[in-house]
Amino acid sequence: MIYLDNAATTFLDKKASEIYAKYACNDFFNPSAIYGDGARIKNEINSAKETIARALGTTFNSNIIFTGSATEANNLAIFGAYRKNFGKMLFSVGEHPSVYNTAMELKKRGVNVEFINLSSSGEIDYLDLENKLSNDVSFISVMMVNNETGAINDLRKIYELKNKHCPNAIFHSDLVQGFGKFKINVDYFGLDLATISGHKVFGPKGIGALYVKDKNLLSPIVFGGGQEYGLRSGTENTPLIMTFKYAIENFGNLKENENIVKNVRDAFLIELLDNSTNENNNDIIINANASPYILSLSFSGVNGETLVHLMEDTGILISRGSACSSKKSGNRILENMGISHEKILGSVRISFSKYTTLQEAKTAGIALLNCYKKLKEKLKWKM
Ligand code: PLP
Repeated sequence: MIYLDNAATTFLDKKASEIYAKYACNDFFNPSAIYGDGARIKNEINSAKETIARALGTTFNSNIIFTGSATEANNLAIFGAYRKNFGKMLFSVGEHPSVYNTAMELKKRGVNVEFINLSSSGEIDYLDLENKLSNDVSFISVMMVNNETGAINDLRKIYELKNKHCPNAIFHSDLVQGFGKFKINVDYFGLDLATISGHKVFGPKGIGALYVKDKNLLSPIVFGGGQEYGLRSGTENTPLIMTFKYAIENFGNLKENENIVKNVRDAFLIELLDNSTNENNNDIIINANASPYILSLSFSGVNGETLVHLMEDTGILISRGSACSSKKSGNRILENMGISHEKILGSVRISFSKYTTLQEAKTAGIALLNCYKKLKEKLKWKM
């Protein structure tokens, strides 16, 4: 099997599963317990927070709040920051459903919510952002890397625009597809809140975290025993937390990984495009200057979903846009970028990892071209 759906999720290695088992079976103590073993586990959790804080370019472990997923962290950031008489809340159209649908829910409840359009490259339209920034804006949420297109938003630029027009607004970013791939510095990006997820970085599913610059910015959305500084009650999930920590310690050199992935992506594209003499290559790639980890492609005259299944028959797993939206017919993100309905219908997403080999990439490039040709041929006979 060749796995090219790393933006959807990643695997755990054997050592990670051993760490999980250690904290589930042996070091299972409740970190709130007042005896020594409880305090020891509490310290271990704090060391995991330190690891995360460092990976985010900051220092204090008390800035990190563990949640049950990035989805929950995004909900905590948005619902937790919102309060009565709050000003306008801005979100990019490109956000993952865990941000977009939360924004839509607030809008439904009467909150002043506006959306920032995307440019044709998939980045936010900075001019549209600037037009929507005013001193009544209280909250801005723009993701770092788009999970469908790989488009990278310039968070520093957004921070500078925010400072010009509404310096007191809270700035949140969903860093899920950038974390562990690109250098992050929450202070340089000017972030007040930032979301990450375990299972996109060879960590476990069911764990996320929210970076909080100042805990006074948030009110809890889950109430209970007061864990996580009262912002996310519920006994800490030590096995997942410690496995997440292990995954982060294994990031390796991000720049080196990026170069590996760029080579892998290029090898894939050479096989796919150099041989597709009948196609206008520029037409196939939706996101030229994006994260090398995510490739958004569109094939004219065919259905992307059928392509995904044909690829599966050859033992290669790719996806149709994001895993979360793959069953929906429309595509808010590609539509907003101005991509035609036909191209959206024929779009697929390939997502690589630092473990994808050149040979796997070449095999997949050849296979995708063959599947596309086969499908086209079949459709010709049907017409
Ligand atoms: N944000 C982005 C950009 C994502 O890609 C995903 C997962 O697809 C999420 C949030 C949600 O992450 P989780 O599965 O941890 O809730």
